[in-house]
Amino acid sequence: MGVLTKDRAICLRAVDYSETSQVVTLFARQSGKVRAIAKGSKRPKSAFDGPLEPLSFGEIVFSGVHKDTLATLTEFQSQPVRGEVRRNLAALQNALLAAELLDLLTEEYDPHPALFDHVLEFLQDIEEGRAGPDRRGLLVRLILFQFALLHEVGLRPTLNACVNCRRPVAVDRRASYFSSTANGLVCRDCEMNFPDKIRLSPKAAHCLVDLGRIAQADQATLDEIEQVLIHHFTHILGHPPKTAAHLLNA
Ligand SMILES: [Zn+2]
Repeated sequence: MGVLTKDRAICLRAVDYSETSQVVTLFARQSGKVRAIAKGSKRPKSAFDGPLEPLSFGEIVFSGVHKDTLATLTEFQSQPVRGEVRRNLAALQNALLAAELLDLLTEEYDPHPALFDHVLEFLQDIEEGRAGPDRRGLLVRLILFQFALLHEVGLRPTLNACVNCRRPVAVDRRASYFSSTANGLVCRDCEMNFPDKIRLSPKAAHCLVDLGRIAQADQATLDEIEQVLIHHFTHILGHPPKTAAHLLNA
């Protein structure tokens, strides 16, 4: 069976492998992303208390740690949850988008414990009702998670000055822009060099210059920032995230 590794993990994806087994993508705190086969997970009696579901989290044991080959999941003790993520459609959609982005932007066995803690807190906030009943609290968490993800995987956008001329972006007096090709904010004097730029409202620009403002931003500003982020992730990935459709149509 080989060496057993214990970790804490969030299930990002689960696909049927056979009548009785699943292939799962887990994001583990110490191990990073792990793709594993959960043999017998769909049998009524298994080591997994039922099939693994995306967004469930708990303690795992697995063996066979080799990049590009499936590990074998031998235990998944999922933490009992009230299922709030599944009862609230907006929460489910936002959490699934976070899971998809984590899966697409992290490498196998490349650990990001701070990001793990961030996404786990996001899920627990939803479960325990701290994200609020409306879309606003969810969107605040989703946006902050997305910036944390970009930071952790080395794609942090430049937000403290114009990427091109390095001058501070004067968000009060002049229009400012976000460009995915430039990976950051672009000022009015430089925007003509970046055909893909998106014009930002002053409020949205303020939030990007100082991410600490996002928690207090109004719904319209959050919606605007999320549209910019979806556009940006589409540029990075080369396709729109599958689970972002609900946000693109917002
Ligand atoms: Zn500039």
